Amino acid sequence: MVTGRKIAVLRERASGETRVSATPETVKKLIALGAALHVESGAGLSASIPDEAYREAGAEVGEAAAVVAGADIVLGVQGPDVALLSGVAPGAWVVAGLDPFGQRARVDAYAQAGIEALAMEFMPRITRAQSMDILSSQSNLAGYKAVILAADTYGRAFPMMMTAAGTISAAKCFVMGVGVAGLQAIATARRLGAQVSATDVRSATKEQILSLGAKPIFVENVAGIEGEGAGGYATEMSEEYQKAQGELVSSHIAKQDIVITTALIPGRPAPRLITDAQIASMKPGSVIFDLAAPQGGNVEGTVADEVVERHGVKIIGLSNTPAHLPADASALFARNLFNFLSAFWDKEAGGPVLDAEIGDAIRLTQGGRIVHERLLG
Ligand code: NAD
Repeated sequence: MVTGRKIAVLRERASGETRVSATPETVKKLIALGAALHVESGAGLSASIPDEAYREAGAEVGEAAAVVAGADIVLGVQGPDVALLSGVAPGAWVVAGLDPFGQRARVDAYAQAGIEALAMEFMPRITRAQSMDILSSQSNLAGYKAVILAADTYGRAFPMMMTAAGTISAAKCFVMGVGVAGLQAIATARRLGAQVSATDVRSATKEQILSLGAKPIFVENVAGIEGEGAGGYATEMSEEYQKAQGELVSSHIAKQDIVITTALIPGRPAPRLITDAQIASMKPGSVIFDLAAPQGGNVEGTVADEVVERHGVKIIGLSNTPAHLPADASALFARNLFNFLSAFWDKEAGGPVLDAEIGDAIRLTQGGRIVHERLLG
């Protein structure tokens, strides 16, 4: 007889991390698949989930060592330190956002410990994996929060207001990079009543910007990326394009009150989109939120987790924006992990069995070795 797989949920230990990788909802659903859920005491506290809620959902709540002892699968938002994992079942899975390039030593340690590490940020962008995509779910919330925090820092209102004391004009908000985060930033700024414009290098985003009621601002004289771009991702642009983009930004940005930057290129530092000279052209009191801060920033002078003031303009960026919405970010992250495990759950095997398309894309280590092609050679 096959016994239920033991799934462990640890408290996150990275500084500033407030999320948790399972919620009472996903605990219940995993138990319904036949798994036994063990949650570390206090794991959900910073996301407003008390131990009791996990118990009511059917989990055992205990200390870390007991939670991981004999576990077949360990869930995380970020990768747990390998020292926490002594006692897991041989070949146990770690399923989390593993930051494989930034945390290479930890990935090597997983290999040495015989752990199978599955990096959820490497989930391929295919239709059936959309519901498992942690980058999308977390970027969406980050795009929202960036606008809220920028609005809070801005010393003026977003919407136009006609009052007895006179009219206040609407804030002008410019979103640079229209992926998942940028789209949500546009929608949020629009809901708050700002006049929104946006830019990207991928031509397909023009329609998306228009459909959200914002104005596309695009480089016209040098070709950008046709359509969606491979996998929806941008690449580094030519020098000629960068020059044309710089000129376009210079002419537009001086009139903006709020700028939200979200531009990323997979596997590369974030592209520099705003220079100090461009910041100097902005009105005092303007606010820039640099969502690319953890990847080096789109804006000259960004310091993650600090408010930097340059030429009277406030530049903000956080090292972990989704962690500032712990409850919703955890709910979506936990569902991504559940959707992943349940899609591959094999009743006969009593647990998940991956296929090659997704398995090979996310598996970093197996059988004591690094196996992912992006980490080899
Ligand atoms: P991302 O985080 O890689 O980058 C953010 C945005 O920055 C992108 O739109 C990119 O084109 C843009 N950018 C890069 N360099 C720039 C520059 N120099 N100037 C201006 N903009 C620049 O992107 P993302 O949020 O992950 O999503 C990108 C696309 O992928 C979207 O169209 C999204 O809908 C799609 N997507 C598909 C799936 C799926 O099918 N499973 C999942 C997630 C995202």
